[in-house]
Amino acid sequence: MSLVYDAPLCPLSAKLPEVRLFGKRTTLRNPVVIKNHVVGMVGALKTQNRAMHNMRSELKRLMHIVVCIKQVPDSAQIRVHPVTNTIMRQGVPTIINPYDLFALEEALKVRDYHGGDVTVLTMGPPMAEDALRKALTYGADRAVLLTDRHFAGSDTLATSFALSQAIAQIGNSFGTPDIVFTGKQTIDGDTAQVGPGIAKRLNLVQLTYVAKIASIDLSARTITVERRSEGGTQVLKSELPCLITMLEGTAAIRRGSLEDALRAARSEIVKWNAAEAGIEDITKCGLRGSPTVVKRVFAPTPRAEKATQIDTTEKTVRDVADELVTSIFTHQPALEHELSSSGSA
Ligand SMILES: Cc1cc2nc3c(=O)[nH]c(=O)nc-3n(C[C@H](O)[C@H](O)[C@H](O)COP(=O)(O)OP(=O)(O)OC[C@H]3O[C@@H](n4cnc5c(N)ncnc54)[C@H](O)[C@@H]3O)c2cc1C
Repeated sequence: MSLVYDAPLCPLSAKLPEVRLFGKRTTLRNPVVIKNHVVGMVGALKTQNRAMHNMRSELKRLMHIVVCIKQVPDSAQIRVHPVTNTIMRQGVPTIINPYDLFALEEALKVRDYHGGDVTVLTMGPPMAEDALRKALTYGADRAVLLTDRHFAGSDTLATSFALSQAIAQIGNSFGTPDIVFTGKQTIDGDTAQVGPGIAKRLNLVQLTYVAKIASIDLSARTITVERRSEGGTQVLKSELPCLITMLEGTAAIRRGSLEDALRAARSEIVKWNAAEAGIEDITKCGLRGSPTVVKRVFAPTPRAEKATQIDTTEKTVRDVADELVTSIFTHQPALEHELSSSGSA
């Protein structure tokens, strides 16, 4: 229904307003009729607005996406202490873990297409707020910082416990997430265990090593993704909600708009300690909740034996492959024996 006024509502002596009702153009002469039509139209517009509002709320409810991001030292600038062999973190700038940025980009693309909200979540010291603010400049809608001295010294088990509790609390406060994203792995801890750990604790389907979201069917509540695996790409269809661990992806990471940058600077970051995140059993957090122990950190020493180089000039691929296999078997005769006895050589 559209409404066209050629003149404002006015006394009958003046030009009468022309109204288009359900596509029909008509001039209304009787003031009572005009009033009734206008009241009717205003009512219809209100109903339409309410429907639009409900639809938007419904979309928001449907597509709440949580992206876990970790602030990590910029590995390009990390040095190992030559004497103690420990990582020298002082003065090393921090960045958002690169895989988490790809996860954020994928989440923002889904939100831009289907509507909804993206919440970014990190567990870390107060300075991790910088990473969250950066994520807001890229276009995230909300940021939650999980920070408490009880989290210090967490291994992957304790980290995934705390994050899963916080995600449940985010669900209570801002709507149940339909997709939880993590990066495939971090560039500092490098374990790739936190994503699957969260999925297990929240009983979510986990889609790991995802390179791209192919499609989402909101009415059927399904998602189709491309997962990179050894030797190819798998196309997987899953139900929502789910947890995705994201590879480097195919999308270029966006530059945030000026509007997003201004909003990020002004936005209030939601800060939760353990209790506020709904964590009752504090013994599952931090050092106490971390059964893993780092016994030693060291930089591997270079091998005494030099690598053998195969000269490929004027050789066919088959010749090079044969030479490579011969070289491997010369260095590892047991492997040749194992492969020939299993019939796979
Ligand atoms: C044996 C062991 C002992 C450790 N001891 C300590 C210690 O004493 N002190 C210490 O500071 N660190 C310690 N760490 C590092 C700490 O455990 C890791 O930072 C943390 O568990 C995450 O592991 P990861 O970096 O391997 O993450 P991965 O499993 O590689 O990360 C996968 C994804 O999970 C998400 N993610 C991971 N961590 C976070 C986070 N904090 N917030 C939001 N999202 C996240 C990201 O999306 C990331 O891409 C230890 C690690 C290990 C393996």
